[in-house]
Amino acid sequence: MTLAAYRPRQLPEALNGLFSLALDLRWSWHHGSDVLWRTLDQETWDSTRNAWLVLNSASGERLDELSRDPEFLARYREQMDAHELFVRARTWYSEHCRDELDRGIAFFCMEYGLSESLPLYSGGLGVLAGDYLKAASDLGVPVTAVGLLYQQGYFRQAISTDGEQLEFYPYNDPTMLPVSPLRDEDDQWLRVIVPLPGRDVRLRAWVGQVGHCELLLLDSNDPRNEPGDRGITSELYSGDPEKRLQQEMVLGIGGWRLLRALGRDPVACHINEGHCALALLERAFGWAHDNERDFDTARMATRATNLFTTHTSVAAGFDRFPRRLVQLYLDPWLAGQDLTVDQLMDLGTHNSDQDTTGDPLLNMAWLALNMSGRVNGVSRIHRKVSQTILQDFFPRWPSEDIPVEYVTNGIHTPSWDSPESDELWTRACGKDRWRRPMQATCPMSEISDQDLWNMRLSQRKRLIHYLRRRLASQHCEHNPGNDPAAACGLLLDNETLTLGFARRFTDYKRPNLLLSDPDRLLALLNHRDKPVQIVLAGKAHPYDKSGKELIRRWKQFSRMPEAEGKVVFIEDYDLGVANQLVQGVDVCLNTPRHPWEACGTSGMKVLVNGGLNLSQFDGWWAEAWNPDVGWAIRPGATFEELSHTNDHDESDARELFDLLEQQVVPAFYRVDQEGRPRDWITMIRASMDQLTAHYSANRMVREYVEDFYRPMVALGRQRDPDTAHALVQESREINAHWSRLRFTSIEVEEQDQQQTFTVDVYLDGVPAEHIGVELIAEASEYGPRQVHPMERKQAMEGSARGWIYQCTVPARPEGHYTPRIRVRDDRLNLPLENASVLWLR
Ligand SMILES: *Cc1c(COP(=O)(O)O)cnc(C)c1O
Repeated sequence: MTLAAYRPRQLPEALNGLFSLALDLRWSWHHGSDVLWRTLDQETWDSTRNAWLVLNSASGERLDELSRDPEFLARYREQMDAHELFVRARTWYSEHCRDELDRGIAFFCMEYGLSESLPLYSGGLGVLAGDYLKAASDLGVPVTAVGLLYQQGYFRQAISTDGEQLEFYPYNDPTMLPVSPLRDEDDQWLRVIVPLPGRDVRLRAWVGQVGHCELLLLDSNDPRNEPGDRGITSELYSGDPEKRLQQEMVLGIGGWRLLRALGRDPVACHINEGHCALALLERAFGWAHDNERDFDTARMATRATNLFTTHTSVAAGFDRFPRRLVQLYLDPWLAGQDLTVDQLMDLGTHNSDQDTTGDPLLNMAWLALNMSGRVNGVSRIHRKVSQTILQDFFPRWPSEDIPVEYVTNGIHTPSWDSPESDELWTRACGKDRWRRPMQATCPMSEISDQDLWNMRLSQRKRLIHYLRRRLASQHCEHNPGNDPAAACGLLLDNETLTLGFARRFTDYKRPNLLLSDPDRLLALLNHRDKPVQIVLAGKAHPYDKSGKELIRRWKQFSRMPEAEGKVVFIEDYDLGVANQLVQGVDVCLNTPRHPWEACGTSGMKVLVNGGLNLSQFDGWWAEAWNPDVGWAIRPGATFEELSHTNDHDESDARELFDLLEQQVVPAFYRVDQEGRPRDWITMIRASMDQLTAHYSANRMVREYVEDFYRPMVALGRQRDPDTAHALVQESREINAHWSRLRFTSIEVEEQDQQQTFTVDVYLDGVPAEHIGVELIAEASEYGPRQVHPMERKQAMEGSARGWIYQCTVPARPEGHYTPRIRVRDDRLNLPLENASVLWLR
C-alpha cells in the first residue's frame, strides 16, 4: 500500500471538516456527532460504529445531497464549533499543573482497546490503556501513546454447535481504520528502522487522534521488508517467543525512535507492563548520544523519569527470552551502543532463571525494574502480590519494604455509561462532570427512586433487545434439536433479575463456579416468582485448552431444556458487547481465584449505570466493597492466608450460591407498594455515590500525574549530565566497599519501657551521609511492624571509618529489634536504585 491510497476522497467543500471529526476517536465516547454519521450511512454506522469508515463509504451523491441540506449543515456546523471549542478549552491539567509535563509523557503498551472499530487489543490490559488515554484527553494531560498496528489484531470468536470455540483472524484493512499515516517534512510516509540480524526492518508510522492525545502506531507490513518481517505486526500474542521478541523490539526500539523522528522529547516514559522495556533502553541510548556520555550515566539520568506499571499476578506471567535469542536479535542493535549483550543480560537476569537447556533468560520485568525510577501495581492487593513476586530483585529485603506502589485501575466513565444514566448524572452533577476531578459523591440522593428504577428498567430492556439481535446473528435458529424461540432469546424477560458474567474464560477466573452445583443453579433460573437469567460472554486464549473447555461446559448447560433461553452465551466478546452488557445487567458477577485478579475492571463499568457487583473479595473489589454497595465472597480474605491453590473453590461456590439465594434474589424482588425494590435501589444509589468517581480513569490518571509524573519529573530534573555521572561514581564507590561494611557492636539500655539502642558501624570509608542505619521490628504480639531511623551520633573513637548510631524505641523482648544498614540518598529512589542492605543478623 502506498500513500496514494490515503489521498482523502473528495468531499463537498461545505463538509470538508468531516475529515477531522471522523479521525478524532473522541466520537467513540462523546456521542455528539453520532447523528451526523447515522445520517451519512446508517447501516455502516450501526454495524461498525466507525465514523471514518462511514465517511469513506458514503456515496458521492449522498454527500452532495447533504451538503445542500440545511438541517444537516446546521448540525454539522454545530459539531464543528463544539469540536473547535473542545480543542481550545482549558482543562484540569492546564489549570492545575504549571507546564511541568509540557514536553509530554510517553506511554507504551502492547495493546490499546479504544473502540471496536480499532481492534488492536485482546483484553483487560488494552482496554485499560485505551481508557487511560481517553481520560488523559479529558483532563488535558499531554500524553503520547505508542503501540503497534496489528494487521489482524486479536482473534474473533464463534462457537460451533458442539460448543467448540472457533477462531477467525480477519484482516484489518488500515485504510478502513480511523488512523492516518504520519508524514515527514517532505510529505513522504514517515518510516523508522529497527535493525534485525542481517537486515533492517522498515516500520510505517500511523497516528490515531484520541481527543487531546495522540496514539502513534507502527507496523512492519512494508512491501520492501522480507516476507517474514512483514508479518511481525500481524497478530497480537501469537505465542511464538521469537516473534514476540521481534514485536517488543518494534514497539520499544521503533516506538522510541519514532518519537525522536517526530522531534518529541518526552519528560517521562511510562511503560504499561514489561513488554515495552526496550523503549527504556532506547531512551537511554538516545540520551547518551545527545549528551555524549556513557550508558551508565544515561541510565542514571533517564531512569528517574521512567515508570513501570505491572499488571501481572504470577512470576510466570513476565516475558522471558533465552540468551541465544537475545544475542541473535539484539546484538545488531547494541553494536553501535555502549552496552554489550552480557551487560544487557545482567540488567535483566534473575539469578536462577534458565530455560530447559540451561540458557539464562532475559526477564523483561527485571529489565524494566533496572531501568525505572518507580514501580507500581494496580490495586492494593496487587501491590502485595507484586512485592512477593518481585522479591528476588531485592535480596534480603522483607517484602513490606519492597518499593512497589499502587494505583488502582479505573475505567473511562463516559465510554461506559448509557444514554439513560448520562441523563441522570447530568441532572445531578452537570454536563462537564467527567472532565474535572469527579466529585467523590454526586448528589444521587436528589434523583428519585422512581427515576433510578426507570433507568434500570429501560437499560435492561435495551440489553434484551440487543441480545436478541446478537443471538439472531449467531444463527440461533439453526441450533439443532432445540427450541428456536429459547435459543433466540425470546424467553428473556425485561423484568427478570439479569446477571452478567463477561470476561476471559480461563481457569483462575473460575467461570465454572456457578456450574459446580447445577441443581442449585437450575433452581435459581426456574424459580416461579423470583427467576434469574444470565448473560455470558468471553473468549478463551487460542492455546488455553481448559479455558475452551469452560466455554463448552457453559454452552452445554445453556442447552439443557431447563436452562435454555435463561442462560445465553454471546459470541465474540469485544468492547461493543461489553458496552451493552455493562449498561443492562443488574449484577456483574466476578469470581476470580483470590489473589489472582490484579485489579479487574469489568465490574467498575456497571457502577455508573446503577449495576451492582457480586464479586470475589479481590483486586479492586477488596478496596471498594462494603455491605451497602454490593456483595463480596469471602470478605476480608487477606493475601497472607492464601496460596495459589484451589482450596477455596468449593467453599467460594457455596458462598456464591448462598449470597444469590439469600440476599441478591430476595432484595431484587422485595418491592414496596409502588412496585419498586426499595432496598435494591438504596444499594444502587450507594454504589453510584460511593464508587463511580473513585473507580474512574479520571481519578487514576490524576493519581499518576500527581503522585508519579510530577514528582518523578522534579527528581529527574536534578539529574543533569554531570550530576548523573557523579551519582554513578558514588554508587560504584558504595558498591565497591559494601562487602566490608559491618556492625562492630550493639548495646541496649532499658528504662521506663523504652529501649535505647547504640550501634557501632564500620563504613570502610563510605561517606556517612550516604548511609542510613535503621532499627526494624517485625509485627508480633508486641505490636505492629516498626522501622526506626537511627541517629548518627559521632565518629567512633580511634577509627576514621566507624560511626555510632543511636535511637530510643518502645521496649520489646530481646532479639525483636534488628539494625540494618542501607544506602540513603534523597537524589535516588531507594531501594530500587540501590538495593544494598546489611543486617546485623
Ligand atoms: C473491561 C474489559 C475487559 C477487562 O476485564 P476484567 O476481566 O475485568 O479484567 C476485557 N475485555 C473487554 C472487552 C472489556 O471491555
